[in-house]
Amino acid sequence: MDYQNSRQTIELLPEFEADLQDLFSELDEEPALLIPELEMELETQDDHLTANFRLREFASRGTPVPSRYLPNVRRLAQNLQVLRDVLNVPIHINSGYRTPAHNRSVKGVSNSQHLTASAADIRASGFSPPQVYCMIERLIQQGRMVEGGLGIYNTFVHYDVRGRRARWTGRGVRRPDCSSIL
Ligand SMILES: [Zn+2]
Repeated sequence: MDYQNSRQTIELLPEFEADLQDLFSELDEEPALLIPELEMELETQDDHLTANFRLREFASRGTPVPSRYLPNVRRLAQNLQVLRDVLNVPIHINSGYRTPAHNRSVKGVSNSQHLTASAADIRASGFSPPQVYCMIERLIQQGRMVEGGLGIYNTFVHYDVRGRRARWTGRGVRRPDCSSIL
């Protein structure tokens, strides 16, 4: 390449770069590439996981459950449906899936089952947390709900489908005596 050609290249570059930038910004904003995925996500959010639980009930402050965790949240909902059918009342999901930021903001433990959409903090209309806790415990013993994490707090019960037994109580909350409750 001689000197003359090099100069020509340099003179052409700014315009060429501007064209490239236009091209890239068009690609970034290309709606046809984004809409199908978004639509699919919105449709999925409306889907019922079970008869009484919809996926969007488990969203993290507006962030949908990531698709990689759908098997977890489906398994969780199927087990909660068992509880729902036995109690025969609506079950409210206080907290389902949590993004890492959401989990940090509520001071969740760093390995929380909520991070993988495997956990829900719930309350059941007309039932106290001890009653919900003990009913889940009984359903686990009966093999109708999967073994997992069960924690009781003042206003809600945590249940998760980790697959191995874990029990705890929130600060200042006593473990209920289920033999006297159910
Ligand atoms: Zn929880």
